[in-house]
Amino acid sequence: MRTVDEHLTEILGSVAPLPPLDLALLEAQGTVLAESVSAPVPLPPFDNSAMDGYAVVAADIAAATEAGPVALPVVGDIVAGDSGVSAIRPGLTARIMTGAPLPAGADAVIPVEWTDGGNATVRISRAAPPGNYIRRAGEDVLAGQVVAEAGTRITAARIGMLAAVGRSRVTVRPKPRIVVVSTGDELREPGTSLAPGQIWESNSFMLTAAVAEAGGTGFRQATVQDEPAKVLEMLHDQLVRADAIVTTGGVSMGTRDVVKEVLSGTGTVSFHKVRMRPGKPQGFGLLEGIPVFTLPGNPVSAYVSFQVFVRPALRVMQGLPPEPLPTVSAVVAEDVKSPAGLRHFLRGRLSFTRGFYTVTAAGVQGSHQLGSLSSANALIEIPEDVEAMPAGSHVEVMRLPS
Ligand code: AMP
Ligand code: MG
Repeated sequence: MRTVDEHLTEILGSVAPLPPLDLALLEAQGTVLAESVSAPVPLPPFDNSAMDGYAVVAADIAAATEAGPVALPVVGDIVAGDSGVSAIRPGLTARIMTGAPLPAGADAVIPVEWTDGGNATVRISRAAPPGNYIRRAGEDVLAGQVVAEAGTRITAARIGMLAAVGRSRVTVRPKPRIVVVSTGDELREPGTSLAPGQIWESNSFMLTAAVAEAGGTGFRQATVQDEPAKVLEMLHDQLVRADAIVTTGGVSMGTRDVVKEVLSGTGTVSFHKVRMRPGKPQGFGLLEGIPVFTLPGNPVSAYVSFQVFVRPALRVMQGLPPEPLPTVSAVVAEDVKSPAGLRHFLRGRLSFTRGFYTVTAAGVQGSHQLGSLSSANALIEIPEDVEAMPAGSHVEVMRLPS
C-alpha cells in the first residue's frame, strides 16, 4: 500500500512539459503560452476620438450653452483609418469619427449629440474641458508592456489582446493528446441494446470529457475486450499518437484483470494499492516513454483517480503547476465518518451562503454509483488520519468543473 501523495509524486516525477509549438492565434485557443508576449507599440498607438463628433480647441467653446451655442466652421472630415496628418487651428473644427486620429491642434472632442450636426458650420451648445472624449496613446497598454505571461491559458479575451498587439502566431505548449480506452467484456456502446449481464460503457466518455476540462485533447478508443493480446495490440497502436494513455478497468484482483496482467513489469509500469477511497487499485508507468495511467473500472473510482492523478500530470505537460482542482475550505453541515488510514473523497454538494461555504455529502457513495457523482459539485477530501468529522468542522473541498 502507498499513499495518495506517494503515488502522485511518482507520477509527477515522470511527466514533463510538452515541447513548445508555434501556432496560429485561433489554433492556440485553450493552450498555455510558452512565451511572454509584450506590446511592440502603445495601445492605442495614437491619440484618437472616443466619439463621433467634432474636434475642437476646448478654449474656443468655453462659453457654449444651450441658449448661446458657439458656431465654428467645419474644415473637413476625419474618419477611422485616416493617416493622421490633419490639423486644425483655433476657431476651426473638423468632424471626426470614433477611432479616427485626433488632428494636431485639437484638444477636445465634442460628441455630435451636443451639436446641431452641421456640415459647413456646426453649432456647439455645451462646453468641455481639454481631453474631452480623447483616447490617449498608451492609455490601454504601454509600448513594451507584457500583455500575456508565459504559463497563462489562452482564453478568448487573451486572443483579442494578442491580436491587438499584432501577433498572428504564438508559442504555446500544445494541448496534450490523451488516448482513453476502456476494457471489459461486459461493456457495450451507448446507443446499442444490452443483453443480460451487459452495461453501457460510460468511463471512456467521461474521461475523454475530463481530459478536455483539464486542457487536453481526448481521443476515445473503442472498448477493448478482456483478452491480453487485444489489450497489448491496442496499447502498441496508440503509443505512437498519444502524449499519454488512460485506461480503465482490469486492474484489481479479478481473474480477468488483463490490463494488470499484460502491463505488470512492462516498461516502468507498476501496480499499487493506494490508500484512498474510491480508487484503491492504481497503475502507472512509462511505455516507450509515454505515460500510461491504468485507472480502476468502477466509474466513480475512475473519475476521482483522474482528478487526483491524471489532471495534475496533464497540467505539468501544459507547463502549469500541478495544482489540484480549485479547493475551498468549507463547513460540513452534518457528521461525516471516514475510514481510518485512507484518503476519502466524498461526493459533496457545496454551497455559499451568508459569507461561507457549506458542504454536505451528495447521496450514496458507492464507487459504482454515478448518479450521486453527476449531481455533486464537489469532492470532500478527508485526510487519512481523520475518522470522524462532527457537523461544523472545517474541511477541504475540491470544486468540480461546472
Ligand atoms: P474492473 O475494474 O474491470 O473489474 O471493473 C470494475 C467495475 O466497473 C465493474 O462493475 C465493471 O463493469 C465496471 N466498469 C469497468 N469499466 C467500465 C466502463 N468503461 N464503463 C462503465 N463501467 C465500467
Ligand atoms: Mg473489467
